[in-house]
Amino acid sequence: MKKQILKFIVLLSIFVIIHSGCHVNLFNRPNQTTLLALKNRYSISLNSDWTGKKPEILLATLDTIYQYADDQNDTFKASVWVISDEEMQDDVVIKTVNSLQLVTVNRDVFANEESEDLLETKKRLLHIIAQFITEDWSNIQAATLLLKDSTDRDVIELVLKELYGLSIVRKDTPEANKIAQILRKYVGEVHVSEFSNEDLIKLMKVYELFPRGLDKIPRMKYLLRRQQAPYAGSAWIVADCIEYDARTFRIKNQSEFKRIIIHEKAHFLWEYALNGKLRTAWSSLGGWHKDPNNNNRWLKSKNRDEFVTDYAYAKNPNEDWAESVAFYLSRPNKLRACSLDKYDFIDRVMLQYQEGGVPFKRLQHIDN
Ligand SMILES: [Zn+2]
Repeated sequence: MKKQILKFIVLLSIFVIIHSGCHVNLFNRPNQTTLLALKNRYSISLNSDWTGKKPEILLATLDTIYQYADDQNDTFKASVWVISDEEMQDDVVIKTVNSLQLVTVNRDVFANEESEDLLETKKRLLHIIAQFITEDWSNIQAATLLLKDSTDRDVIELVLKELYGLSIVRKDTPEANKIAQILRKYVGEVHVSEFSNEDLIKLMKVYELFPRGLDKIPRMKYLLRRQQAPYAGSAWIVADCIEYDARTFRIKNQSEFKRIIIHEKAHFLWEYALNGKLRTAWSSLGGWHKDPNNNNRWLKSKNRDEFVTDYAYAKNPNEDWAESVAFYLSRPNKLRACSLDKYDFIDRVMLQYQEGGVPFKRLQHIDN
């Protein structure tokens, strides 16, 4: 009897040892809470390649960028993430399969998953996430809406570059010196200051108002933030750069902030989206004509109440356009009330670029 009990204990021990061994090898499954959080917060599903700490690391990295709420799952487009041993550029391959995004991540990213120092892994994941969100407009929209104000700077700048083709001009760089030299003639000495993450997110939220086909515009390449210069305007365009005065980012009135940001981008549309024929057609809506005695001056035959602002009325067709586009995108009722014709004109131009992925060639074609 004792022998049988002993045999049973030995067998039981072997079973426990084998089973715990199996537990390590076969049941190395991620925590269900982590998987649920990925699904609920980011609409991300993982396949069975995501063993060990990988799901937790992915979730933690996403959470450092986003302000999540557990009911935001319809904000991000659904995606399935898998891991592959294949070599790939930038650690990731993103494909759309039946309206699902399939994200294939390089296994090498997680080479150090068991180590204490995950900095390198998280850095590579941040770049994968940035590529994932800029791949699809609905994701970028969700992403910029949910970006934490104090998020990773690399991600914000990558989004700015990938989506809007914009780079930041930094102090003491050749671009900064070139721009400062031009500005000196108009506003005196200019000092470059750093955009905060919050400034850049605020800018992107306004750029989102434009149709997707106008996200990137040739020659609109740089953004510069200048230290407050008392005698300069809120924003200027210098060559291929929009430079904003620091005080622009302190404007509390949202409509006013949007007006300034849209206005400057609209000048690039005037330059690259409207051909001569369209510009003439636009000018006639405001009754604009050149002063026969002074070729630099514009006169108009329409009344002040057909212009959205004093500035639009005071200057020229280009400023009228920039102000009107600003109202079209931020306060359309006001533009409609001033001039239905101008509203319809801008509406027609914008409609052409409403769908994402319209190649800019179309704009250049119109420009010819
Ligand atoms: Zn202007």
